[in-house]
Amino acid sequence: MTAPLHEPRPGTPDTQQGMRRRNLSRVMHAVATDGPLSRATVAQRIGLTRAAVSTLVDELIRSGLIEELGPQRPGRVGRPGSALAVSRSGPAGIGAEVGVDHLAACAVDLSGEVRARAVRRVANRGRAPGPVLKELSVLVREVTARAEREGLRPAGLAVAVPGLVARGTRTVVRAPNLDWHDTDVSALLPTPAEAPSVLPLSVDNEANFGALAELWLGENTPADFLHVSAEIGIGAALVVDGKLLRGTRGFAGELGHVPVRPEGPACPCGGRGCLEQYAGEEAVLRAAGLGPGEDRVGLLAERAAAGDTDARRALRGAGTALGIALTGAVNLLDPRAVVLGGALSRLAPWLLPALERELTRRTATPAAGVTVSRLGSDGPLLGAAHSVVRAVLDDPVAVAA
Ligand SMILES: [Zn+2]
Repeated sequence: MTAPLHEPRPGTPDTQQGMRRRNLSRVMHAVATDGPLSRATVAQRIGLTRAAVSTLVDELIRSGLIEELGPQRPGRVGRPGSALAVSRSGPAGIGAEVGVDHLAACAVDLSGEVRARAVRRVANRGRAPGPVLKELSVLVREVTARAEREGLRPAGLAVAVPGLVARGTRTVVRAPNLDWHDTDVSALLPTPAEAPSVLPLSVDNEANFGALAELWLGENTPADFLHVSAEIGIGAALVVDGKLLRGTRGFAGELGHVPVRPEGPACPCGGRGCLEQYAGEEAVLRAAGLGPGEDRVGLLAERAAAGDTDARRALRGAGTALGIALTGAVNLLDPRAVVLGGALSRLAPWLLPALERELTRRTATPAAGVTVSRLGSDGPLLGAAHSVVRAVLDDPVAVAA
């Protein structure tokens, strides 16, 4: 059992409570990022006195968010302190993903470790949203139950979808590759009857969650970058100063529907010659002469590695189309870096040369460096789960209450 933290009383001036909440968050972030740490080191890191930090730490321990690992190694200078780490049985973020060809869910603890995960291959294109979300809820229930068996407390559920989500809502306005329109995920996602309470739910575009995962988990990711999520659909997300630029309605980043050839083939979005028609997963597989089947991207990578000319040509074509579409974005926005993520990032060795050639040729100055995400197709699912974890670290009082 954990003791509740004290909520600010109505009528209490916010300043002191607000400062306490911010300091609790700073302690949580320090311990989650660099722990195990002693109280003294935490105090040093965040610039508070050791006494102040001890009070905050005690509160976080009582709430079950931080745990003491026991005395640190002897022989160190100064009084031995007990090392602090985020709790392995504290809150967990539950992430879920609706893909065009799969469903997935996972549970991530406060340290960022994936503690449970479930994936199912399903052809979701053209299926009604109700049955898809019902199937997704089975996976969510599975990982939630596994997390709870390990003593974790699910703190929220975040769902990544391959479509436009109206800003500040849980409604998928349009998902061309699923053929969903105005779908309220919160209304259709069944909650397990046995769940004691309904988890707080958020819904966002997969490219947004992919970019956040890169920001939070990527190696040396700058605070300003353009993230390209290349899968069956191609989405992008712009991160500026560590924050997503969502656009007025929340629809920013639809790179896949930027025209590469204005008179090109028709696209489910209603346009013609969109990037997705040249560099989306299905277009690339078609161009390489590969029909449907298991792990086609892996097979394409194998063929390209073996020097297959059809595979190489298809990937060069996709890289060129990506370069043309990204030229517009890079010229307009001047990002510090372009990061290629998503399932197709596995094909980067054969996509990147053509992509970079187009970018270099078409942009005024040496192009922003293009790097490849190491998260690959895991980005959106991890980003979703981590968004819940980040919310706990950002305001531990809210979750403890
Ligand atoms: Zn389109």
